[in-house]
Amino acid sequence: MNTVDRHAESISVRQSTERFRLLAGLNELHLRYRALGEGAVANYIPELAKANPDWFGICAVTTDGQIYEVGDFDRRFTIQSISKPFVYGLALEDHGREAVMQRVGVEPTGDAFNSIIKLDAVNRPHNPCVNAGAIATTSLVHGSDPTARLNRVLDMFQRYVGHTVDVDMSVFMSERTTGHRNRAIAHLMLNFGMIGSNVEQILDLYFQQCSILANCRDLAMMGATLANGGVNPVTGQRAVDSQYIRDILTIMYTCGMYDYAGQWAYSVGLPAKSGVAGGIVAVLPGRLGIAVYSPPLDSRGNSVRGIRVCEDLSRHFGMHLFDTFLPDLPEENAPPRSMPQARQLEPGTEPWRESRTAPVDALRSNGQVALRN
Ligand code: GLN
Repeated sequence: MNTVDRHAESISVRQSTERFRLLAGLNELHLRYRALGEGAVANYIPELAKANPDWFGICAVTTDGQIYEVGDFDRRFTIQSISKPFVYGLALEDHGREAVMQRVGVEPTGDAFNSIIKLDAVNRPHNPCVNAGAIATTSLVHGSDPTARLNRVLDMFQRYVGHTVDVDMSVFMSERTTGHRNRAIAHLMLNFGMIGSNVEQILDLYFQQCSILANCRDLAMMGATLANGGVNPVTGQRAVDSQYIRDILTIMYTCGMYDYAGQWAYSVGLPAKSGVAGGIVAVLPGRLGIAVYSPPLDSRGNSVRGIRVCEDLSRHFGMHLFDTFLPDLPEENAPPRSMPQARQLEPGTEPWRESRTAPVDALRSNGQVALRN
C-alpha cells in the first residue's frame, strides 16, 4: 500500500470511528433519559395535550448528509415556535434587513414566549422568537392572498426538509379557536401600526406555520441546512439565501430558548429553537443539525429531555461554540480529527475533540459504549 492509500485508509477508519461514536452517544443519551419523568405536556393548545409523554426521539444530520437517529425519530409533531426563525429568514429575503428591522428587533427579552406587555421604545416587538415578534414577522411574508402566502411558507419548509410538508389541521383549528392571547397581541400591534389590519389572515398564517408537521429527522435536516450555509445537505437544494444565515443563527443563539436563552448559551453554546410540542433543533455551524423530540416541557416551554440531551451532547463532545479554546490533549490520547463532512475545519476547531475537562469515553475497554458524566 502506498503512502496516499494508507493515508486515505486511516482517514476512513477514523471517520467510521467518529460515526460510531456519535451514534453510540445518541443511543446512550436516549437510554439515559428515556425514563425521566419531569415536565408536563403543553395543554394550552387543546390538541397538543394528546401527546404521549414517553415519545422521545433524537436525530443528528451532518453537513455531508449523514443521518443518525434513535427512538421515535419518525413520529411527526407540530413544529410550533421552531417555525419562527425560519419564517424570519423568509421575511428577510422578501424585504431585506433594514425593512425587517423596522418591524421586529433583535434584543432578547428575558420574558416568556407569549408575553403580552413588552414592546420596545418604538413599539416594536423585541425579537422574532417571542410571539409578538413572530406574528409581526409572519405579517411580512409576501404573497397576493392568504393561499399564496401559505404556499410560500410551505415551499420554504419543503426546501429545508427535502420533501413536501403538511399542516396538522386539528392543531391549527385548535389554536385558532383558543388563541385569544395571540389575538390580543396581534391587535395590540395593529394599534401601534406594527402590522396591517388583516389581523385574522396574519394570525391564520402564524397558526398554520406553527402547525406544520415534522419528525426529528426533518428537524435535524432543517438544522443541518442552516449549518450547511442554507443548502439542504441531502437534496443539494438551497433553502435560504446564505447572507441571512447569520441573522437566523444569531436570533436562535440569543432568543431561541425564550427566557432560558442565556442559560442555554452558557451550558450548550449552540444556536437553537424550541417549540411547545416538544421539539428542539440545535445547529453546529459547518458541522451538523441536532433534533430532539420529547413532549414534556419545563416551566419555560422547553422540552425537558431536549435540554438534557443537548447539554450532555455539547459537554461530552465539546460542541459549545467557544470550546475551540479547550486545551489540546496529548497526541496519543487525542481522538480522530476528522468528521464525516465535506469541509475540513482548521485544526483545533473539531467539535468532536475530547477535552481534558469533558472526556468522551466512547469505547470502554469492556466493549460497552458509554458517555461519562
Ligand atoms: N403556536 C404557539 C403559540 O403561539 C407557539 C409557541 C411555542 O412553541 N413556544 O403559543
